[in-house]
Amino acid sequence: MDENYQRILEKIAKSSGVEKEELERRVEAKRAKLAGLISREGAAQVIAAELGISFENEKLKIDELLPGMRKVNLVGKVINLSPVRTFTTKTGEVGKVANIILADETSNIKVVLWDTNHIDLIENGQVSQDKIVEIVNGAMRDNEIHLGSFSEFKLSKEVLENVKTEKIVKEKKLIDFRVGDSSQVRAFIVQNFEPRFFHVCSECRKKVVSGAEGFMCAEHGKVNEEKRALISIVIDDGTETMRCILFHEQLVPLGITELEDPEKLLNQRDDLMGKEMIFSGNVRTNKMFNNTEFIIDGIQQINLDELVGKLGG
Ligand SMILES: [Zn+2]
Repeated sequence: MDENYQRILEKIAKSSGVEKEELERRVEAKRAKLAGLISREGAAQVIAAELGISFENEKLKIDELLPGMRKVNLVGKVINLSPVRTFTTKTGEVGKVANIILADETSNIKVVLWDTNHIDLIENGQVSQDKIVEIVNGAMRDNEIHLGSFSEFKLSKEVLENVKTEKIVKEKKLIDFRVGDSSQVRAFIVQNFEPRFFHVCSECRKKVVSGAEGFMCAEHGKVNEEKRALISIVIDDGTETMRCILFHEQLVPLGITELEDPEKLLNQRDDLMGKEMIFSGNVRTNKMFNNTEFIIDGIQQINLDELVGKLGG
């Protein structure tokens, strides 16, 4: 069952003393009453409010944050800042947005700042790499914290040691994948396409195009090229299907090695069909087709022995 939902229930159970099973019953009753118009997480938050429990005044750890929470408070260390971007709204106004990554001992999370007063703190250098900041009244949007004019964003005197800086990859169902997520999913390959080839600069590994004088890199001029391949596949985990892209390094773990031999390649592609694996990577928007795709940067074979052990135990 959904991990986030279970964690909300556990948190409510701990704060209220009401048993988890009873909470689950109340959530289902609430949803039945509302004809299923509310998610389980949403219903659980309504039940929490009815029990007089609010997470709004509580300082939370990053791994306790849940999608849909509207007033979150936390303290974290700045482990990454992206350059402030400007954009023009439909009405012609110029706005600014800044992204930072905050970390604590439990996890890390992307924070999106929309308020100019907050962005000022970054632009004038008060908030910079490794500074500890406090957030009051942030809103969870998917797996990000968004800060508006109603939020507070300020330096904190708290000390945070051993913050978790490695990328957090969450195991998810395909139906729950959101753009920007680093996710892991266990799924079946249901379709695969002919590999595509391209060339990269041997120095910077950026794409190069062939011209009259050979391959040209925008940065390095005439260079030695390296031939690269990518392959698209479609995976299905029972909740959704998704198109995925795998670059060169992932082809061998996938099981594709015979790029130069069309017949052997076809056999290897046939073998992929119906294969179940654990895929990890990043979800992004394909701007050309305006759809969501999963860029796979890790593949784990499913260890059948381990699986049998788990099911038996
Ligand atoms: Zn180059």
